[in-house]
Amino acid sequence: MKRKLFINGSWVGAEHYAPLSSPYDKKVIAEIPIASEADVEKAIEAAHNAFLKMAKMPKHERGHILEKLVMLLDKRKEEAAEIIAKEAAKPIKTALEEVQRTIQTYKFSAEEAKRIHGEALSLDAAPGGENRTAYTVREPIGVIGAITPFNFPMNLVAHKVGPAIASGNTIVLKPASQTPLSAFFIAELLQEAGLPDGALNVVTGSGSIVGKKIVEDERVKMITFTGSPQVGKEIRNKAGLKRVTLELGSNSALIVDEGIDVKSIIPRCVKGAFSNQGQVCISLQRIYVHEHVYDEFVNAFVKETEKLTTGDPLDFQTDVSALISEHDVIRVISWIEEAKKTGAIVATGGNAKGNIVEPTVLLNTKPDMKVSCQEIFGPVVLIEKVSSIEQAVEYVNDSRYGLQAGIYTKNIHHALYAAEELKVGGVMINDIPTFRVDHMPYGGVKESGMGREGIKYAIEEMTELKLVVINRQV
Ligand code: NAP
Repeated sequence: MKRKLFINGSWVGAEHYAPLSSPYDKKVIAEIPIASEADVEKAIEAAHNAFLKMAKMPKHERGHILEKLVMLLDKRKEEAAEIIAKEAAKPIKTALEEVQRTIQTYKFSAEEAKRIHGEALSLDAAPGGENRTAYTVREPIGVIGAITPFNFPMNLVAHKVGPAIASGNTIVLKPASQTPLSAFFIAELLQEAGLPDGALNVVTGSGSIVGKKIVEDERVKMITFTGSPQVGKEIRNKAGLKRVTLELGSNSALIVDEGIDVKSIIPRCVKGAFSNQGQVCISLQRIYVHEHVYDEFVNAFVKETEKLTTGDPLDFQTDVSALISEHDVIRVISWIEEAKKTGAIVATGGNAKGNIVEPTVLLNTKPDMKVSCQEIFGPVVLIEKVSSIEQAVEYVNDSRYGLQAGIYTKNIHHALYAAEELKVGGVMINDIPTFRVDHMPYGGVKESGMGREGIKYAIEEMTELKLVVINRQV
């Protein structure tokens, strides 16, 4: 079916279309419009024109539109999950979890819309500041360019669209080329929920044309990007003085200390490593286990991994399905092969069947192997032995990334040492690095990005702090 661009509240056709195929069985799911520069221009113009209306809209009205969206999405959640499963090959039960989280993200956005405020300041704390009343307000900044990845096509759109609407901004959204249907679906629901024309525009097409135009246009005041570090760097270089938030990749790690009841944490660790085929920015990629529990951990982890079912994303039994593209299958397998050649041992998995890479556990890896030092973004995890917490923390920090890290320990000193020393945006004590709920501050250090999401924090990024000072003596 031919889909349309969403510009200024209307569904409009494009001059060119590209077929969208399922990553799992290659069947064509839809024909996707390829926006021209002129289409993107119209979308930016529409967002620019709608800004005043959104900025002046009372906060309860913005909240109401988002509440209505929550209701509509809740009613159609099975349909939404099916869209995600088809376009991203996300196993349907994982896709349903994403839809539930998307609902949460918009719910928090509706609530936060009513809590945007500044503070009163005591200027007389400084000599010369007497007899003045001062306060700050938070104002929306204008048109926001949102560029999103394929791996959470609905919830990562929500993390940009929700806070942008809540804070009175307007949006031009470019979803990943492989997963535009989730974005179109949300645009349809938001229109039904009463969002003014032009407040959200969805333009599909390549990053290098559509994305580039959004990044370079002067009317766009902020770019909120989630995706790879490589594209993130390119965007930052082109964005000039625009505000930019970058939510990028990682090779997230977990430390397992001695004294831990290994069996009780295994199912959660396995889920953290292989959920959505490991295509999660905080997927568990590296595990550093204390030598006293290492053998027990590896045996139990491999056993649990071998219970996973691979197959059709639309089958409720499936835990692991196809990677997003053939190119990624070839890349992941070549990284495993490279690791094997330089001494790594495959404890389980290691092969591909069609576009599905088997859940793979590697042992005896070295820090400079690609499977360790780069973001694998596939169903591959490595488990290494350490003799102390200090050594484990050093290994975790030996990374160009720093999104989240986890540590399981019963020792409070070790927990606090890890909390202080780990160079990441978030430390999860007694949990995997993959833990996320949608209102917590979320973002990375080093090449994992800059700025924070999590509705309240995204709203801070999407608003300008303005100071008002009243001189009472005039
Ligand atoms: P990607 O290749 O960087 O693409 C992300 C988005 O950027 C897509 O919409 C893409 O469009 C667009 N794009 C590509 N080149 C561009 C350019 N030159 N200018 C502007 N936009 C451009 O990432 P992906 O493969 O979709 O997603 C995987 C990555 O996202 C991983 O690194 C993962 O860790 C990261 N991620 C991070 C978070 C987080 O919150 N930190 C969450 C999820 C994912 P096309 O699809 O048309 O190429």
